[in-house]
Amino acid sequence: MPEETLDSPVTILKNVGAKRAALYEKLGVFTVRDLLRFYPRTYIDYTDPTPAAECADGENCVIKGTVIRKFPPAPIRKGLVLYKLIANDGISNFQVTIFNSEYAYYGLKAGEEYVFTGRFSRNVGKYQLALSTYVPERESGVLRPVYSLTEGLTGGMVVNNLKEAVERFADRLEDPMPKDVLRQQELCQLRYAIENIHFPKGREACEIARRRLVFEEFFTLSLALIRLRRREKAAGAVQMKPVDIAPFEKSLPFSLTGAQQRAIREILEDLQKPNPMNRLLQGDVGSGKTMVAAAAAYAAAKNSCQTAVMAPTEILAGQHYETFKKVLEPLGIRVCLLTGSLTPKQKTELKEALAAGEYDVAVGTHALVQQSTEFCSLGLVITDEQHRFGVEQRRKLAGKGESPHSLVMSATPIPRTLALIFYGDLDLSVLDELPKGRQPVETLVVHSDKRQRALNFIRQHLDAGEQAYIVCPLIEDTDSELRAAAQYAASLEAMFPDCRIGLLHGRMKAAEKEAVMENFKQNEIQLLVSTTVVEVGVDVPNATIMMVENAERFGLAQLHQLRGRVGRGSKKSYCILVSDNDNEETRRRLGVMKSTSDGFVIAQEDLKLRGSGDFFGSRQHGMPALAIASLTEDTQLLQEAQQAARELLAEDPELTKPGHEAMGVIITKLFDQNKDGWN
Ligand code: ADP
Ligand code: MG
Repeated sequence: MPEETLDSPVTILKNVGAKRAALYEKLGVFTVRDLLRFYPRTYIDYTDPTPAAECADGENCVIKGTVIRKFPPAPIRKGLVLYKLIANDGISNFQVTIFNSEYAYYGLKAGEEYVFTGRFSRNVGKYQLALSTYVPERESGVLRPVYSLTEGLTGGMVVNNLKEAVERFADRLEDPMPKDVLRQQELCQLRYAIENIHFPKGREACEIARRRLVFEEFFTLSLALIRLRRREKAAGAVQMKPVDIAPFEKSLPFSLTGAQQRAIREILEDLQKPNPMNRLLQGDVGSGKTMVAAAAAYAAAKNSCQTAVMAPTEILAGQHYETFKKVLEPLGIRVCLLTGSLTPKQKTELKEALAAGEYDVAVGTHALVQQSTEFCSLGLVITDEQHRFGVEQRRKLAGKGESPHSLVMSATPIPRTLALIFYGDLDLSVLDELPKGRQPVETLVVHSDKRQRALNFIRQHLDAGEQAYIVCPLIEDTDSELRAAAQYAASLEAMFPDCRIGLLHGRMKAAEKEAVMENFKQNEIQLLVSTTVVEVGVDVPNATIMMVENAERFGLAQLHQLRGRVGRGSKKSYCILVSDNDNEETRRRLGVMKSTSDGFVIAQEDLKLRGSGDFFGSRQHGMPALAIASLTEDTQLLQEAQQAARELLAEDPELTKPGHEAMGVIITKLFDQNKDGWN
C-alpha cells in the first residue's frame, strides 16, 4: 500500500469514497493537504447566547434553552412539514419552528439543553425562533466553522473529515513561511493556524489563526507578482530614441491638459529605456486617455516601431481607429483596423501588409490582434482595459515582438488596495485633470412613475439639437433581449416623432452595431436605445443625457462608466437613474452615484458594497482566487505582507537561501498554474 501523505487523495480518510471525493473535487479539494487548506467561510458563535426577551425582532439570534415540549409534526402541504417545540431559557419560553428538517427535530430531546441559532421574531409577547442550527449545550463553548458546501456534502461530513485530517496529518505540514518573517510579524505557526481555523479554541485563537493565514496568502501572492514584474523588467526591449512630439500636439484641435502632458512625458522616458515599459495609465472617464495613447504611438512610429492597440469591443476598436487615424494620418503614420467583419481574404492581406511593415499602428479587439497577427517590428502594445480586463491579457502579445513596451489604459480608478495586488509595482501615470470647459454631470435618481417626465425632459434636449442614450439592462445574446429592447425602442416612437431612434444590442453583428454607432456619432440618430453594449468608452460629445432603466441592476463601476458617456462636451449633461427598487443597499448605491463623480470614491464604495469576490479570483483577471483574505477588511495586512515580500526579495531574489526554498517552490507553482493567465 502506498504511503499515506499530505498529498494522498482525500479517499484515504474515513467515510470518504469515490462519491464524496467527487463532491470535494467540485470545491477544489483533491488531497488531504487541500482539505486542511479548505478554510471555513465563517463561524457560528454559540458562545454568547442572548435571553429571548432581549433578542431583536427580525434578527438572527443565538438563544440557549431547554426543550420543554415537542409538538407532533404538522404537515402543511405536500412535501412540507412544520415541526414545533417549546424551549425555556431560564426566564421565558420561546417557540422553535423547524421547516422540513425531520433530522433536526428528532435530534432535539425534551429535557435537554441546547444553543439554538435562527431568525427571531416577537409577536404580541410571544417569542419565536425559526431554527437554522443548534448544538447541545455542552458543546457550545466554541465557534463552529461553516464551510462553502456543495449539494450532497454537509457541514458535518466536512467537520468529521477535517477532524481526522488535522489529527493525523497537521503535524506533517511544512510551514513555507520564513521563520524570521513569522517572528517579525508575530505570526503563529502553520500547525496552530490550521487547527484553530477549523476548530478554534475561542475567538482569540481564531483571530490569531486567521491573521497568520491571511498574511501568508498575501505574502505569497506579493512575492509571485513582484518577481513576475522583475522578470519582465529584466527582459530586453526596443530602446527608442527621444522624439519631439510638438508636431503631434500642434495638429490637435485643443491643447493637452497638464496631466496629459505629464503622462506623455513619463511614457516617452520609459520608451527610451532598455527594458520594456510596464505602465498603467489611469484616468477617470473623459480624462482623455486616448490622446496620450496616440502620442505614444506617434513616438513609436517615429522610431520605426509598430504599435498594436487592443480594445475590449468592436465598437470601441472602431472608435479608436477613427481617432488614431484622424490625428496620426496627417502626420504620415499609417493606421489599420482589424475587425471581425473583414473577409478572410481581406484579413490575410492586412496581416501580410502588417508583416511587411506597411502599417505603423494596428487597432483591433483583443482577440483579433492576438490571433496570430504578425508584426514586423512591434515595439508598443496599448491595451484599453476599460474595467473588463485584468492581468490576463496584458502580455499575451509579448511573444510577437522582441519584448514590446506595454501601456495599459484603465478607466476604472482602482482602489489602492486592488491596484497594489493587480499591478504590484507597475508604474503608474494618472490623468487627474479633466479637459477644460467640462461641466459636472448632474445625476438624478427617480422612480419609474417619473419616467414620463424624464422622457419629456429628454425630448426638450433633443429638440435643442442634443442627443441622448437610454440603457436597459438586458441579458445579452438572448432572443428575449432582442424583443425587449426592440419593443422599448418602438414604444418611444410615438413620443419622439421627429427623432430617429437607434437600437443597439448584443444580438447585432459587429458591422450593424458599428453602423448604428456611426449614425449616432453623425447625429443621424438622436436617441440611442441600447443594452449594456454601449457602456465602454463610446465618445459622442453632443450626447447630453444618459437615462438608465433598472439602474439597480448595474454595479457602481458600470454606472460610472455609463454616466461617463455624457458630459464629454461643453454642454451641461444629465444622468437619470430609474429604479423602483427601494431596498436599502440599492438606495445607498444610487445615492453614491448622486453624491460624487469621483471615480476613485465610487470604486472604493463599490468594493465595500460588493466585497472583493467580484473583482478578484474571477478567471478574467487571471489571478489565483483568494482563499481566506478579504480585500476590504485586510488592507493593513496586505500592505504589511507586501512590504515583507519586498524585503525578502531584496535579500534573496531567487529565494534559494535556507528557509526560503519552500516559498520559492510554491511561487513557481503559482506561476505555472496561472501561466495562461499571466503570460
Ligand atoms: P477617456 O479617458 O474616457 O478614454 P477620451 O480619450 O475618449 O477619454 O476623451 C474624451 C473626449 O475628450 C474626447 O472627445 C477627446 O477628443 C476629448 N479630449 C481629449 N483631450 C482633450 C483636451 N486636452 N482638451 C479638450 N478635449 C480633449
Ligand atoms: Mg476611453
